[in-house]
Amino acid sequence: MSDAITVPKAELHCHIEGAAPPTLVKRLAEKRGVDVSAVLNGNGKYIWSDFTTFLKAYDVASSVFRTPADYALLAETYFRMLAAEGAIYGEVFISPDHAQAAGLSYRSYVEGLAAGIERAKTDTAIEGRMIAIGVRHFGSASVERVVKEVVGNPHPLVTGFGLAGDERSGHPANFAKAFRMATEAGLGTTAHAGEFGGPDSVTAALEFLRVKRLGHGVRAIEDKDLVKRLVDEEIVLEVCPGSNIALGVYTHLRFHPVNMLRKEGVKITLNSDDPPFFGTTLGKEYSSVTETFGWSFDDQMDVTRTAIEAAFCDEPTRTRLLVRLESARQVPTG
Ligand SMILES: [Zn+2]
Repeated sequence: MSDAITVPKAELHCHIEGAAPPTLVKRLAEKRGVDVSAVLNGNGKYIWSDFTTFLKAYDVASSVFRTPADYALLAETYFRMLAAEGAIYGEVFISPDHAQAAGLSYRSYVEGLAAGIERAKTDTAIEGRMIAIGVRHFGSASVERVVKEVVGNPHPLVTGFGLAGDERSGHPANFAKAFRMATEAGLGTTAHAGEFGGPDSVTAALEFLRVKRLGHGVRAIEDKDLVKRLVDEEIVLEVCPGSNIALGVYTHLRFHPVNMLRKEGVKITLNSDDPPFFGTTLGKEYSSVTETFGWSFDDQMDVTRTAIEAAFCDEPTRTRLLVRLESARQVPTG
């Protein structure tokens, strides 16, 4: 058995609609009479060529999920696949705006997803949590509405709040109030920054949103002082190398700063973002980074430990996960 399979893994950055396997989308599309041929080819691969067409493919694929049972199936499928790759924990971004577009209330959306997470856990012991996201380019009123909905309808598996969408749209100052509300309600917070935006975008997210975790954050590498700040403040980066390469942020994994950031002492985790759209999985992220940068078994264990320490879960769950992680050291590898 290879290291890639025996290292327990944890995912902190994956959009649930973006994790929809093409076969599942096709099956639901046929059932609902939705034409997805423009975004899904005959070989079961998503069709897109740039960020705009990626977002379009994403929205069309998401549109086939319409009932709590559809979302339960989506969550169960994703978490089972994650567990099959050795993951013991996963957090997914959920998008109340997508649920609304599908005609579902926030509560039924969350209950559907939670049912799927619980079903996967029963069989595989994988722990799952949800992070509700506001869409940055929809503006501050929309993002505040999402926070109010989340806080007003608490669910034990919805433990975080995040900001996604176009990083180049809207200054983080506009979302400071929404993040304050989320933090006061006890939710963990994270924001996408430092993917398409440079170091200024990362600094602004830290200043105005007061997050301890950043989605991507990798372009902080362009500013030495900022890298030092990430180290000093123990900010955790949800790094998604495969996504960055698929979307052209970097041309090749060799040139991706994940290893350099880690060497500088930044806390990094590995994640798949929108796996089937980017031809990746969490397991592939671990194995390709390990191969490219010559990481050891212990290096990979450290990455999972960082993820579990930064997870938006309760302390008893964190302790259990850390025990499970450490027990992997007893298993001979190779
Ligand atoms: Zn993302």
